[in-house]
Amino acid sequence: MTLVIGAIADDFTGATDLANNLVRAGMRCVQVLGVPQEAIPLDEVDAVVVALKSRSTPVDQAVNDSLAALDWLNSRGVRQVFFKYCSTFDSTDVGNIGPVADALLEQMAASQTVMVPAFPANGRTVYQGHLFVGDRLLNESGMQHHPLNPMTDADLVRVLGRQTRHAVGLAARPVLARGAKATRDHLQALAEQGVRHVICDTLDESDLGVLAEALVDYPLVTGGSGLGQSLPEQYRRRGWLDEVSEPGRLAPAHGSALILSGSCSRATLEQVTLFLEDHPGVSVDPLAFAEGSAHLQEVLTFARERLASGGPVLVYASADPERVRQAQAALGVEQAGELVEQAMGQLARTLVDEGVGRLIVAGGETSGAVVSALGIRQLRIGGQIDPGVPWTQAPLANRSAMLSLALKSGNFGGTDFFTHAFTVLDTLTEGRGNA
Ligand code: ADP
Repeated sequence: MTLVIGAIADDFTGATDLANNLVRAGMRCVQVLGVPQEAIPLDEVDAVVVALKSRSTPVDQAVNDSLAALDWLNSRGVRQVFFKYCSTFDSTDVGNIGPVADALLEQMAASQTVMVPAFPANGRTVYQGHLFVGDRLLNESGMQHHPLNPMTDADLVRVLGRQTRHAVGLAARPVLARGAKATRDHLQALAEQGVRHVICDTLDESDLGVLAEALVDYPLVTGGSGLGQSLPEQYRRRGWLDEVSEPGRLAPAHGSALILSGSCSRATLEQVTLFLEDHPGVSVDPLAFAEGSAHLQEVLTFARERLASGGPVLVYASADPERVRQAQAALGVEQAGELVEQAMGQLARTLVDEGVGRLIVAGGETSGAVVSALGIRQLRIGGQIDPGVPWTQAPLANRSAMLSLALKSGNFGGTDFFTHAFTVLDTLTEGRGNA
């Protein structure tokens, strides 16, 4: 089997964001969690996105994990490798974008790559190498206060220049405006001068289209998920992609429906409130978990009763800022979060074992905890529920039917996300199968 595109993403939600865009542009996609350890059966798949945690790990580990992911993708005969990072170019002076790009280029014996972080649909654009978030320069967008990677300089040529010993160049908008051939010629001229990294301007979707056409033959491209929207059209023109009418179609969904919410973001709180108007739910409290196992047993009893008739039922730790503050004051921030995440992981494992087959998880960290408790290593990416959130399906070790899984980061999704999601799942699958 030949993979058309293999992506190495520097965090989990960024990986899903790219995978979602690839599916929407017509590719059949699997997301793999962590460096692939084992052979993963990838029938009828055009794209694999490997989700690493290399944004925040030390440089050496980020490089090693990325190279291991590259090895695995190469063993699948991948045509183009895509190193995916955040559209706000999240990194520090030591990396990890520069060192990872350098290591990948070297390993692939390639002489040049490009940086296309822009995602115009989300207001991330680049002009004369300067990254804008909406109408603000990156360093005035709030990103200058990021706790892990404060972005205090919007000039990406300069930012990347501090992360690599190689020359960094620019493909500016006036070049892009002359079309794909002019852009390719410009990149070629830079390559002849030894420029290994080229920051690319992008103002809108048509710039992404020009870049995709100019870059389709590059062994390695790097950037945000915006470029992922435009590349599939070029793959199609090359005849690399089968025409698939519904790349986000999933296998029949089996089993009862559960929602686990550990997000306290405003959007999730509204989603929880609306869902509870017409559906059953039970709240969980880190303070009660700290007192012993009785609380978890009560929650399990409540959930089992509602799941017996198929669900959906909601289990939520989601709470307003005042309640969160109280729990954090009593237990410490980390311990409060940890207790909730552990409980959500345990609830997922127990209830999926007992027959839950359609599961929504709200919260980025909470999703990580649930996915790891379930031992999930790969997700087939299905159609989109709301922007940035697709349905997915995962094989489970002890069950023949796939688990249908929607992982929502806190602020994503409309107010009716939970009920809307199950309706969308029905349209993506060939009916519900047996409960
Ligand atoms: P989001 O995507 O909205 O940021 P996350 O799951 O990433 O959601 O983060 C929410 C964090 O808050 C998790 O660590 C979760 O365990 C913790 N948490 C959830 N509910 C509570 C609560 N009631 N009190 C304290 N911490 C909580």
